[in-house]
Amino acid sequence: MELDYNSLLLALGVSASCLAVTLVGSWFSRRPETFLLTCSAGLIPIVAGIFTYGAYVDKPRLTLAILTFVLFFIGFSTIWAAGYQFRTRRFSKARALLGSLTGIAASVPAMLAGYDGLAFMGDNIVVTVLLLLTAREYWLSRQEAPAPLYGITALYTLTAISFALCAGVLIWDGKLVLGHAPDNWAEDVSPAICIAGMTGIGALSLALHQWRLAAHHRLQAITDPLTGLLNRRALFDRYGHRPFGPSMAVIVFDIDRFKSVNDQHGHASGDMVLKLFAGELAVGLRASDTVARLGGEEFALVLDNALPGRAEQIAERVRDAFAAREITADGKSFACTVSAGVALGTADGIAFDSVLSTADKALYAAKRNGRNRVEVATYLHAVSPDISRTASCSRPG
Ligand code: GH3
Ligand code: MG
Ligand code: MG
Repeated sequence: MELDYNSLLLALGVSASCLAVTLVGSWFSRRPETFLLTCSAGLIPIVAGIFTYGAYVDKPRLTLAILTFVLFFIGFSTIWAAGYQFRTRRFSKARALLGSLTGIAASVPAMLAGYDGLAFMGDNIVVTVLLLLTAREYWLSRQEAPAPLYGITALYTLTAISFALCAGVLIWDGKLVLGHAPDNWAEDVSPAICIAGMTGIGALSLALHQWRLAAHHRLQAITDPLTGLLNRRALFDRYGHRPFGPSMAVIVFDIDRFKSVNDQHGHASGDMVLKLFAGELAVGLRASDTVARLGGEEFALVLDNALPGRAEQIAERVRDAFAAREITADGKSFACTVSAGVALGTADGIAFDSVLSTADKALYAAKRNGRNRVEVATYLHAVSPDISRTASCSRPG
């Protein structure tokens, strides 16, 4: 079976249209991924440009050529802007405009002056550059999802090469005036490469979208929505299977008389206090430390690599800073305090839930002893997780 050039262009136009519709469909499932929408917005002028170019191949009229150039540059610049938006989550009007205007300047004046060969050289060169810039955006994002992003980068580069070949053959021939659409082997190969490239880019863009969706759901499952901290489940995922050695510690915090904050100032103010406390906890942490909201007004801080006394020092710093903080809600100022319980790992290694429950016992001792204080648990027989459950708590000396 032999396909003529116009049939290839038609196939390219149809596959680009289908891709545009599919991308909009995917965008509906997660609206913040606006790069999908930008991508399909870029495909619309490209599809229109393909059909206009098909008409120009049949009847080489000046207006059709100029319209093709303008549509292509708007489309390819928008696709570049979509790549930038994927990487930075910001739409760049400047890129869309710069790409379009550069392309128009590189081809339309030459076309108007009657140098159609020169105009098509400029057109192919600028499209090549725009596609390479798009490939670069996905390359720079490759850490996020290496497999699909390497694929998308390769396919944009391949498509860019097909346009570079078209430019190269025109330059090699050196004809500044053609009188018709370029007609050479590179032009015949280019639509086939573009169809393959577009199909692959479409499939990988959807895979990428699913990848981001799954990552978003994973993050939601381990994040506390109010404070943005990790939740209890995430803490157990991270530490549940690791024995706690002597350089590891857990501090459990519980805001004092928090119920009365809600009662006196309202639930919204209570929420604000929780967020303020979460911010206080995060101050001065090291990369190896983990903060989580265990639930309600209880928080935990896990120190992965702490020198002796550091856990207690941090607990005191947080307690002190929080108590000194003046909180304003509904025009009224008030202060809140927090109590904390500290438990360390043992030389033999001890399970995380045992350290957590020991820290909890220390916390309740802090509550019993008057609140707004830190208690450090001392193990009576720090040899095994079971014995450690019978830990007693004492005020640090
Ligand atoms: P204690 O000093 O003994 O810890 O007393 P408390 O009042 O802080 O403790 P209690 O367990 O009696 O009350 C905890 C309150 O925290 C009750 C609950 O309504 C409130 N709470 C739990 N989660 C949230 C939340 O997400 N937002 C707000 N505003 N309040 C919450
Ligand atoms: Mg409380
Ligand atoms: Mg509580």
